[in-house]
Amino acid sequence: MKVDYIIVGLGLAGLAFSRELTKHNKTFIIFEDDSQNSSRVAGGMYNPIVLKRFNPVWDAKNQLEKAMPFYKELEELLGGKYDYKVDIFRLFTSIEEQNNWFAACDKPVLAEYLIPKVVTDNYNGIDAPFGYGNVTKTGRIDTLTLLKDYKKYLEKENLIIYNKFDYKAINLDEENIEYKDITATKVVFCEGFGMKKNPYFKTLPMEEAKGELITIHAPELEIDFVLKSSVFIMPLGDDLFKIGATFNWTDKTNTPTEKAKEELLGKLNTVINVPYKIVDHVAGIRPTVNDRRPLVGIHKEHKQLAILNGLGTRGVMIAPTVAKELYNHIENNAELRNEIDISRFK
Ligand SMILES: Cc1cc2nc3c(=O)[nH]c(=O)nc-3n(C[C@H](O)[C@H](O)[C@H](O)COP(=O)(O)OP(=O)(O)OC[C@H]3O[C@@H](n4cnc5c(N)ncnc54)[C@H](O)[C@@H]3O)c2cc1C
Repeated sequence: MKVDYIIVGLGLAGLAFSRELTKHNKTFIIFEDDSQNSSRVAGGMYNPIVLKRFNPVWDAKNQLEKAMPFYKELEELLGGKYDYKVDIFRLFTSIEEQNNWFAACDKPVLAEYLIPKVVTDNYNGIDAPFGYGNVTKTGRIDTLTLLKDYKKYLEKENLIIYNKFDYKAINLDEENIEYKDITATKVVFCEGFGMKKNPYFKTLPMEEAKGELITIHAPELEIDFVLKSSVFIMPLGDDLFKIGATFNWTDKTNTPTEKAKEELLGKLNTVINVPYKIVDHVAGIRPTVNDRRPLVGIHKEHKQLAILNGLGTRGVMIAPTVAKELYNHIENNAELRNEIDISRFK
């Protein structure tokens, strides 16, 4: 088989890069071995504001401008619904937080997203004596359904192989790469935390940031917004709510743990006051970088090998933008921004 590109990994990074290739009439084959599942378990939120301190998220406006049409096009291509527009309500715990909110609303870069008032409406299931701040133009991508549907599409087109990509089987010559019976001009590695096993890129400074989420059924909880307090509470419909997420910087497994469940429930019980049942519990590893910027670029010795990774806690927003930038870098020699280029690490 002869293709322009091999993509290793079908999470949000692999998905976004494959869409760039399709748009430019490049051929590709994807390898996927189900060893990581960050994109499948993700909460899927896109949100341009750091809700702890009311600061803008790095590059958010630029990323949202690319991400919104990207997911819309996927809805059209695959015929599914993935983008659920939903506001975030930040629960205030003091007068001081209310004041900080109004100060943030005055910043021109945030004004577009923050509504300058305190919401004092009552919602069944939550005590909110200090009210809420409303962030708008936010939402949730149903990444699990999106990836399931995209896989079906790739299967139909014979564009995916469900196998571990074996780094030892790579043969590089001046121009091409041979991998078993495939000849390609480039390999783009989109392995998420799997990068740690990739001999060509494993020295890049990725840190595991394991995260866990539970789903609860809570028929008396009446919120149609995402509530941000000590945890996120995301309405999924049918009285289901996702609760998340934890951070663990040492555990490198994708296994859900009792400890994380207890942490989430401990926090949840301080926020809601209605009964609920746990119906799901998932875990995954966020591919996080020590400077909190993505890992994008071409290997310094082997020009046929490139990487798209390090999406950290915000893969939904970042992936479409960095996929475009990597494509233009490889095909059109466009310079990468220094802050995302892997060459920033010596
Ligand atoms: C609990 C949790 C909550 C999150 N919530 C959000 C959120 O609300 N909003 C948001 O934007 N982001 C969120 N994230 C982060 C987001 O999930 C990541 O930024 C994003 O999924 C990373 O995508 P990726 O494609 O780089 O990696 P991954 O999703 O890990 O994909 C990598 C893929 O490569 C495959 N692979 C690896 N090695 C090989 C190999 N050798 N051969 C074949 N295949 C291979 C893996 O099986 C995997 O499918 C969350 C993450 C977690 C864990």
